[in-house]
Amino acid sequence: MRRKLVIGNWKMNGSRAGNAELLAGIAAGLTASGAACAVCAPAPYLAQCQAALQGSAIAWGAQDVSAHAAGAYTGEVSAAMLADFACRYVLVGHSERRAYHHESSELVAKKAVAALAAGLTPVVCVGETLAEREAGQTNAVVREQLGAVLEAISAGDVAKIVVAYEPVWAIGTGKTATPQMAQDVHQVLRAQLAEKDGQAAAGVHILYGGSMKPDNAKELLSMPDIDGGLIGGAALKAADFLAIIHAH
Ligand code: 13P
Repeated sequence: MRRKLVIGNWKMNGSRAGNAELLAGIAAGLTASGAACAVCAPAPYLAQCQAALQGSAIAWGAQDVSAHAAGAYTGEVSAAMLADFACRYVLVGHSERRAYHHESSELVAKKAVAALAAGLTPVVCVGETLAEREAGQTNAVVREQLGAVLEAISAGDVAKIVVAYEPVWAIGTGKTATPQMAQDVHQVLRAQLAEKDGQAAAGVHILYGGSMKPDNAKELLSMPDIDGGLIGGAALKAADFLAIIHAH
């Protein structure tokens, strides 16, 4: 049985004062019956997350990582640096990185490998655009995106990744995939994981992301292959994030 996992992706939001309030609010409302949880903060705030959350049940992580280990890569942040701030997770291949920073599936795969090498858990984000869904390409698109990562990692590392299915048309739009639509894709992704390692696939968390809110979380999380959520907007309010963490 996979324990549910709910990760907040703050995207480019927050301030020292606002983060302190948000983290305190989450910590105060978290109960043992909630899902495992984490926040993925902008890089400058990872030290703040570490100071505020160390010893708590809330993990933290980053939203992106360099594919390179070190060197002349101005502006980049390495996986070892994230590990230095005790990050557990790092998002790789978020659709906003793929769209605005032209990240290819090959680059995303290299980032996942770099994260694993530093002992981090990469949260591999996949998802189709509306045009791709309407063209009947959803499964092919997500399989290509996950496939690049699976090709780059060893079978022994399958158990060390998290996958997040985030249909691009559902992100920040208020449009959510129906639980069945999401389940169908999650099943495809789990089958693909099983092609690489049949045993590990059953234990991998596959999260849904895209306008997940307190009022639709329970239904989504009740599906057999939806193991948690990757939450954008609703992760910026402690009450909403907590409601999703406790929704299952
Ligand atoms: P929203 O929850 O704001 O739709 O964002 C989802 C997302 O992109 C999380 O990574």
